[in-house]
Amino acid sequence: MSYRVGFDIGGTKIEAALLRFTDSTFEVIFRRRVPTDREKGYASILEKIKSLYHQVLEHLPENSKIESVGLGLPGSIDPKTHVMHNGNTNAFVGQNLKKDFTEIFSGISKIKWANDANCFALAEARYGVGLEHEKSHPGAIAVGIILGTGCGGGLIIGDHFIEGKNGAAGEIGHTILIPNGRPCFCGRRGCAETYISGTGLEIEYSEVSGKPLGASNSINVFEKANAGEAFAKIAILNYKQHLAEFLANMTNIFDPDYFVLGGGVSQQASIYEGLEKTIRSQRLIPVESPRVYQNKLGDSAGVIGAALL
Ligand SMILES: [Zn+2]
Repeated sequence: MSYRVGFDIGGTKIEAALLRFTDSTFEVIFRRRVPTDREKGYASILEKIKSLYHQVLEHLPENSKIESVGLGLPGSIDPKTHVMHNGNTNAFVGQNLKKDFTEIFSGISKIKWANDANCFALAEARYGVGLEHEKSHPGAIAVGIILGTGCGGGLIIGDHFIEGKNGAAGEIGHTILIPNGRPCFCGRRGCAETYISGTGLEIEYSEVSGKPLGASNSINVFEKANAGEAFAKIAILNYKQHLAEFLANMTNIFDPDYFVLGGGVSQQASIYEGLEKTIRSQRLIPVESPRVYQNKLGDSAGVIGAALL
């Protein structure tokens, strides 16, 4: 039995959890979430992390100790310099994370961090859909994809994720889906992220309906489609076609055992209808599509994956 702490640090919220792990399962002892307020800057975010950590310690049972602290961060972290290359929360970019985290978590010898999508994929592979997937085997390949504000990816082999030379493996959202397509913050045009993220669906809806961007968030688009609105139905149809093409590309590269989807759009049951069939029609070899699963751990996947680091 071991006690581990996980942090899920995103652009909008910071979540901390104290978890008790046994060989085969885990239990959440304490969990708290606060807004990131990223406009207040890096020092303010560190203060929030420190305060959450003190609350975690108050919930640690007597005579127990914390084995490790893991943090899921919104960007790619260089494994050698421990500096974040980029991410949607600029406050972290260029900061010496190792120095600051070692100070906050003083006395803890194992402090690890990783991209939040890697944490998501790791948690789902070990304790989520990976447990139930019919073809799971010790070396199973899984691709975790977060369809949120952006599109992050985590590549899992067995029970490890692929970090990459610079900590940036799995940045599948920044592969081109439509040449010369929509502009992306990374500087390229037509990145998958600009089509298959929740934001991508909002742009699609705006293009199809002629309404200004921001008039509908991605979840509203599904609600409008359910209410019979033609624009919303077309936007979702286009979105699903992009998603299927993207997953077919990923299938041709990784030949994974399964995909697991996270983020707001992944909670919509209608995106899974017909998806595997379309992937199958587009993959190179004439075999079934990998299964595409909705996540099992929901919002908790981030902190659980971080604690598993
Ligand atoms: Zn991009």
